[in-house]
Amino acid sequence: MITANEIRTRFLNYFKSKGHEVVSSSALIPNDDPTLLFTNAGMVQFKKTFLGQEKRGYVRATTSQKCLRVGGKHNDLENVGRTARHHTFFEMLGNFSFGDYFKKDAIRFAWEFITEDLKLPKDNLYITVYKDDDEAHALWQSEAGVPAERIFRLGEKDNFWSMGDTGPCGPCTEIHVDQGEHMTCGPDCGIGTCDCDRFLEIWNLVFMQFEQAADGTRTPLPNPSIDTGMGLERIAAVCQGVNSNYDSDLFQAIIGFTADMAGVRYRQQGDEVDTALRVIADHSRAIAFMIADGILPSNEGRGYVLRRLIRRAYRFGRLIGLTGTYLHKTALKIVDIMGDHYPELRDNAGFMARVVTEEEERFNKTLDKGLTLLEDELTALTAAGSTQVSGETAFRLYDTYGFPLDIVNDVAEKRGFVVDEAGFKAHMQEQKQRAKAAWKGGGKETLAARFQSLLEEGLCSEFTGYEHMQGEGRIA
Ligand code: ATP
Ligand code: MG
Ligand code: MG
Ligand code: MG
Repeated sequence: MITANEIRTRFLNYFKSKGHEVVSSSALIPNDDPTLLFTNAGMVQFKKTFLGQEKRGYVRATTSQKCLRVGGKHNDLENVGRTARHHTFFEMLGNFSFGDYFKKDAIRFAWEFITEDLKLPKDNLYITVYKDDDEAHALWQSEAGVPAERIFRLGEKDNFWSMGDTGPCGPCTEIHVDQGEHMTCGPDCGIGTCDCDRFLEIWNLVFMQFEQAADGTRTPLPNPSIDTGMGLERIAAVCQGVNSNYDSDLFQAIIGFTADMAGVRYRQQGDEVDTALRVIADHSRAIAFMIADGILPSNEGRGYVLRRLIRRAYRFGRLIGLTGTYLHKTALKIVDIMGDHYPELRDNAGFMARVVTEEEERFNKTLDKGLTLLEDELTALTAAGSTQVSGETAFRLYDTYGFPLDIVNDVAEKRGFVVDEAGFKAHMQEQKQRAKAAWKGGGKETLAARFQSLLEEGLCSEFTGYEHMQGEGRIA
């Protein structure tokens, strides 16, 4: 069986042999880009090069990029644990051309890599192109020999890629793997007609041709370029003959570790246990990588995303019987599994474990009380014939018990309730106004908060480790 680590190496070597510079992953905090909360694709570190604002010493590059999709245009948090293919944190394998090769070579390289190097059976592969991209449609036939009936034309939603509301963008073409009849979601199952996992999207080749402005207008880039992205977890699952990313080697190790710690068995005790194990595996990866890149739990911005992930994973741990603190252990397991390729994990492991433990301890103090309150509320609502949790309750859980909205949603949804999110946000807004009105200046900023804001301003992008600030790196 080919491991995910081997696939990563083979990918980078393949593109190196085609004249690409092997470039390291950039950090999860985008460098000098206020438009983006997190790095969400391989092209992010090359954005200025695509826009013609920065020259590099090479015109072809290849990377395995750390990505997070938990905010902004690309947000997969809700999908985690539900689909077999989405993670918050994942690795995107990519090759890039900066005004060098274009559609024809991008298609040839991708096809050669997956069918000759990885030896995926050609008959299981399907292609999508942007609806009026006749050129790409023809190239898939002439360069790769894909029959026209396996090439589908789709619209903007699927086959026009953009990083966010502004920035480089362009039409794209994607490669899908048919995982088999047994994965079908029903009579409407098909490419572009459903969103299930049967026709698994594995690789997106973007023809970078435009820069999108905030008002939606698109101007042509100085040089048409190529940006591709293939999820390592998805291609690993396909190569290993499994239908879920979570069954690939990358995830089996962390799922097995967590299951052993909790004394449960994956895929043997029902959905509830399996979902919990998947969410903990997914979030543990995100947590370990976020902290290694300098993000700390806080009440806003990137730090709040981290806090939400820790607390959500912690609650799922409780569901499978874990007690005390345990997430720092699963996060450390990620260091074991991935530290060879990402040394920043090893360098910051001790600090990372302390940050997670503290956050677990803090949440552990209020979790039970908050859950009891929520259960009581749901019982009362049921008696009153209502199915909506009020914004006020959700806000009280947030404010007094530290429950991020995700947790209230998770619990409520499982019992058939919906949460009044607009009401929650209105209460939040009100509180912010009150705090603003009451603030008279002064007050001491904690080290962690100051450090976090420096990071958010991009001033500390050279961050290499926390070890030197041991003892003072406590979070507020
Ligand atoms: P999907 O339609 O499955 O949500 P996408 O179209 O949003 O994927 P792209 O933005 O095209 O994904 O990203 C390029 C590639 O990155 C995808 O083809 C996939 O292999 C991988 N990928 C995207 N999102 C995720 C995710 N949340 N977890 C794991 N891999 C992902
Ligand atoms: Mg998506
Ligand atoms: Mg897609
Ligand atoms: Mg896509």
